[in-house]
Amino acid sequence: MTWQPHATGVVPGIRDTSVRLLLQSLDFLPMAEQTSARILVIEDEPDISALVAYQLAHAGFQVRTASTGGEALRALDSEPPDLVVLDLMLPEVSGTEILRTMRSRKETKSTPVIVLTARSEEEDRLRGFELGADDYVSKPFSPKELVLRVRAVLRRAPPSEPGAKGSRVLRASSITVDIGANRVTVDGSEIELTPKEFQLLVCLIERRGRTQSRSALLEAVWDTTAAIETRTVDMHVGRLRTKLGPAGDMIETVRGFGYRFHPEE
Ligand code: CA
Repeated sequence: MTWQPHATGVVPGIRDTSVRLLLQSLDFLPMAEQTSARILVIEDEPDISALVAYQLAHAGFQVRTASTGGEALRALDSEPPDLVVLDLMLPEVSGTEILRTMRSRKETKSTPVIVLTARSEEEDRLRGFELGADDYVSKPFSPKELVLRVRAVLRRAPPSEPGAKGSRVLRASSITVDIGANRVTVDGSEIELTPKEFQLLVCLIERRGRTQSRSALLEAVWDTTAAIETRTVDMHVGRLRTKLGPAGDMIETVRGFGYRFHPEE
């Protein structure tokens, strides 16, 4: 399998009239900066998969699609993508199972994932975040919004190459964060964080001593104020604390307001 941009102007497999109408009425985004980012779309519904692939290809991304969990896992093995758009409702292997597998593998543990969910799948969505999804888009969604989310997540994803340009190191008591290398150590031992946990930690340390409301953290880390429940922040802070071990105590809860990073003396 190779990375193929979908031919623009042709939307394969669109049967659903509403999707076709939506496509016809789309106010297409201007062609983006030609990006070589490779995106794997994992979705079993052919109409949605085709629509998403079409939009992303139109925005300049290289797109591959997988319609079953098995196909997705094979695609992830053969050519790891730069970002994954993942539907949670899949036959056989579920989306959450794929996400769990991705996070347990070295090659894909930091690959950004945007989850597609139906609004009624609140629990699934939260489970997705628990497993390390970076963002989600609720169905029915605007393809334009999805493209914007993909761009935002790719922009925020820490560079995967160690020693990348602009490498910057933050130190706070026992915690060291090498921003360029996407590496966090506590007392010299490396800990593994998802991209969101990484950004959350960087944000909290950079604003150390100052209380951050959940909405301020949503804005800084998720680039949104309203689309995601503030409970998401609590969940990520909870997981980050656990991973940091005793150093996690430096992230203080400010009751009824938010969080504050307070380095130990
Ligand atoms: Ca589905």
